[in-house]
Amino acid sequence: MGRLKGKVAIVTGASGGIGRAITREFLEEECVVIGFNYVSSAESTHEGLYYEYVVDITDRVAVEGAVKDVINKFGRVDILINNAGITKDNLIYRMSYEEWDSVINTNLTGAFNMIKATIREIVKNEGVIINISSVVGLEGNIGQANYAASKAGLIGLTKSLAKEFGRKNVRANAIAPGFIETPMTEKLPEDIKKAALEKISMKRFGKPEEVAKLVKFLVLDGTYINGQVIVIDGGMEL
Ligand code: NAP
Repeated sequence: MGRLKGKVAIVTGASGGIGRAITREFLEEECVVIGFNYVSSAESTHEGLYYEYVVDITDRVAVEGAVKDVINKFGRVDILINNAGITKDNLIYRMSYEEWDSVINTNLTGAFNMIKATIREIVKNEGVIINISSVVGLEGNIGQANYAASKAGLIGLTKSLAKEFGRKNVRANAIAPGFIETPMTEKLPEDIKKAALEKISMKRFGKPEEVAKLVKFLVLDGTYINGQVIVIDGGMEL
């Protein structure tokens, strides 16, 4: 263990289901983890390794300020995990412009804001960027046009990052989870969950830890993987 000792990772949405699990995996490797959360706290037990900023990632001025502060305090940023995300589901007929804008702004522009603020530092340290996309970004989904577009956008962003920065030894990959048991999916109606389960060949939902282990693999061991989208969905047919 301790393979990330001395490294600094920023994880957005570290208070959520998947973000919390990613944070835990990194802390086990003795990485310093900085959570950029909206309102909730992740309440870490790893004193001296986990720190938190309350930042709305859609606010680029706030993001820039917080990242500057991280660099001043911790001296570096090596890893960026763009994990924060929201859903505001509706059929296109009914989808409001607010529902469209807020999902695109958080899931896609928020990730871009984080990349803009950290990229020089990540290039300097030959670091890694992971963007948490979704199978919905690859396949589309009824009632999720805003979310699907934001997650497909993250894939384009990831592939462009890989092309622009690969020669600088910076890797960028996307992860596309299927249905993972977190507060985001907990709020879905039972009939939607039942229908989702039927489409998964493993007949169970994924756990945040399973996604977090993949994140850790891509950061630590996937040293020749760049610009890829790794699907983790238990064999799901949308
Ligand atoms: P979650 O439990 O709802 O957590 C979402 C996190 O994002 C929370 O920490 C939340 O902070 C943060 N967040 C939301 N808006 C933010 C903003 N404007 N600024 C900063 N932070 C913000 O969701 P999850 O299921 O763990 O999802 C994590 C990621 O995986 C998301 O990008 C999601 O789209 C993706 N994903 C999830 C699934 C799934 O089945 N769960 C499947 C595919 C992809 P607060 O709690 O403070 O609001």
